[in-house]
Amino acid sequence: MPYELIDIGANLTHDSFDEDRAEMMQRANEAGVSRMIITGSSNQGSLDAVDLAETEPGRLYATAGVHPHHAADFDDSSARLIRELAARDSVVAVGECGLDYFRNFSPRQAQLAAFQSQLEIAAETAMPVFLHQRDAHDDFVDVLEPMLPRITRAVAHCFTGEHESLREYLAMGLWIGITGWICDERRGAGVKALVPRIPLDRLMLETDGPYLLPRNIQPKPSHRRNEPRYLRAVFDSICEVRSEEPGEIAATTSANALLFFNLPDLQDSGSHQPETT
Ligand SMILES: [Zn+2]
Repeated sequence: MPYELIDIGANLTHDSFDEDRAEMMQRANEAGVSRMIITGSSNQGSLDAVDLAETEPGRLYATAGVHPHHAADFDDSSARLIRELAARDSVVAVGECGLDYFRNFSPRQAQLAAFQSQLEIAAETAMPVFLHQRDAHDDFVDVLEPMLPRITRAVAHCFTGEHESLREYLAMGLWIGITGWICDERRGAGVKALVPRIPLDRLMLETDGPYLLPRNIQPKPSHRRNEPRYLRAVFDSICEVRSEEPGEIAATTSANALLFFNLPDLQDSGSHQPETT
């Protein structure tokens, strides 16, 4: 059996999976990706994520939140919905929420308000929070930092390799999510250089599928769609630059995900052990 890994960020409700979702899940399982956390990123997206997660309890979980791209749509009904969904067993975090000034699909004021509001919900519901930040570091820290004493746990998902961000994230006690960004020879150089500096007990793995197909997959897929089975490519790239043994990296990053999202222990004992030592 391959090492057991947990994909903490997969957009499995994306329509690119509509044709073969069951097969995609099966491939994930065969690759040792035993559990997946489906990212909720809009009102409807969060509802869909929860619906999908509830088809396979114990294997699939969901987050409920509004991505900064959709912040312009965030209103009182969104806040109510996230609070309601947060009470479900399948929902394990608030988010994805945060700030994205790279694309600015929603006005900054709307992004700031939606972010603040979702942090408030995470604090009230004692849920961990799944964070997105792009080109908005200073405002992100300004909004997040005063809230942290009331937030149980927070992960900066899809870390893309800015040294200053990492330093501050770790100082603030955040967990760090690493995606296939690290697999990109050019774009991923920054992440590769910084991953060894992340304490292993703060590190988690994610594909962000169907986005960010790892560029080091051999043979190269004929499509651009990423899916949870390719979490192994992210894992391998992390192993290349860390000093610990792969078995320890797999076991610790999976344990981190269990702890972070408060998931029940892996049921089938031994399946996370490598076949040979
Ligand atoms: Zn994101």
